Amino acid sequence: MTWEYAPAPESRDIANLKANYRMFLDGEFVEGAGEPLKTVNPATEEVLAEVSTASPADVDRAVKAAKRAQDRVWGRMPGAERAKYIFRVARMIAERARELAVLESLDNGKPIKESRDTDVPTAAAHFFYHAGWADKLDHAGFGPDPRPVGVAGQVIPWNFPLLMAAWKIAPALACGNTVVLKPAETTPLTALVLAEIIQQAELPPGVVNILPGAGDIGAELVNHPGVNKVAFTGSTEVGKIIQRSLAGTGKKLTLELGGKAANIVFDDAPIDQAVEGIVNGIFFNQGHVCCAGSRLLVQESVAEEVLDKLRKRVATLRIGDPLDKNTDVGAINSREQLAKIQELVASGEDEGAVRWTSPCPVPDKGFFFAPTVFANVSQAMRIAREEIFGPVLSVLTFRTPDEAVAKANNTPYGLSAGVWTEKGSRILLMADRLRAGVVWANTFNRFDPTAPFGGYQESGFGREGGRAGLEAYLDV
Ligand code: NAP
Ligand code: MG
Repeated sequence: MTWEYAPAPESRDIANLKANYRMFLDGEFVEGAGEPLKTVNPATEEVLAEVSTASPADVDRAVKAAKRAQDRVWGRMPGAERAKYIFRVARMIAERARELAVLESLDNGKPIKESRDTDVPTAAAHFFYHAGWADKLDHAGFGPDPRPVGVAGQVIPWNFPLLMAAWKIAPALACGNTVVLKPAETTPLTALVLAEIIQQAELPPGVVNILPGAGDIGAELVNHPGVNKVAFTGSTEVGKIIQRSLAGTGKKLTLELGGKAANIVFDDAPIDQAVEGIVNGIFFNQGHVCCAGSRLLVQESVAEEVLDKLRKRVATLRIGDPLDKNTDVGAINSREQLAKIQELVASGEDEGAVRWTSPCPVPDKGFFFAPTVFANVSQAMRIAREEIFGPVLSVLTFRTPDEAVAKANNTPYGLSAGVWTEKGSRILLMADRLRAGVVWANTFNRFDPTAPFGGYQESGFGREGGRAGLEAYLDV
């Protein structure tokens, strides 16, 4: 049976889109001295707004404002008082959830059902969770009197713009640090609405500063001598540059980089449920997820059945208008990212993998890529080794648990993994042997502020979230 869906668009008026956005520095919205940038809607290629950007001198002013605020107000404030501000931010995100969700889908291209049900509520959850820690740090297991680190310089990517901002800012504030954050060039808008919320919540000026700009401003920020702690999420390539430039400076650093996660399906797994997990693992957020289950490892005896069911299921995914509530797969965030996906997919075909692409209709304007599954993939192929960061799944097979572990660990990354099996003992064994920061069992892409998240090897180091995540923001 096929279903015909009538359009069910969310109204874009809810986003309260403005023609111009300014940066947030020392409690005020000000014009940056950098070249303004135009942010586009990747689903239509229209310009959404013009955003002012920071210059190196603005970075310097912001770091100094953050330092003053940390020394004079925020670092001295009792945790119970800091908590009240952070709880207020959490509540205000929840109150403006619809507006933030629509704005995120416009600027990023992700389906409204994801920004509405995942990004925005999880962003609020990070503030709620960390507000709760602010007055309990003496009991967090870091000694009797852990101190804030100082000023945190934070650089985030475009795949979860608001959520990444929350993920970075909330723990920093809870621990008594102040923040200068640079959002990604293609998705600055929700971070600037978050700045508005922070201003309305009456956080003291300078506690949070948000400076849009390109990579050079990110570099300016992380290398500023007034920054005591750097938190970066993005590509392994830029992570390595940052690690090199910070060596010997004494700055604390956490890096959350790329991934090439194995999603492992054993023959005793509930297949229909696993298929849903595979789909969620790679097609959630167009595959623009550092922990995406981009390498499917399926036990040979069920490979045909799994692939068959998978293609049938993927063919039902609806691709198109991110604001339509029935859309499953939205737009690729930028033309550059689309070109990167196309290049890697072409390499998969050249190297002899068998490509299947969903026959679903694809809009002819905007940046879109239809869900794609590669079979007959071997470990040496680029599509098995490199992060595609798009809606493209590479399928490999295995015969024994040992072979599954060897193949899963055969990667320079190590951020996440998934295991599908009915046997609890096998889950524990696999979790023990897989070199990945997060191992999901019979589920995938679950995010929760109470759970530490982070990688091994080229996926970075340090943990974010949970009690472990506080350590990066404390002098212990
Ligand atoms: P990226 O270049 O690493 O960008 C991440 C952030 O760092 C952005 O805010 C970027 O600014 C900034 N930046 C760029 N160069 C910098 C430098 N030298 N010093 C400090 N900051 C700098 O990542 P991308 O271009 O957005 O994506 C490239 C690839 O990275 C993706 O294809 C994917 O493989 C991976 N990625 C991983 C994650 C993750 O969650 N782990 C997220 C996004 C991307 P601009 O926005 O101006 O570039
Ligand atoms: Mg945009």
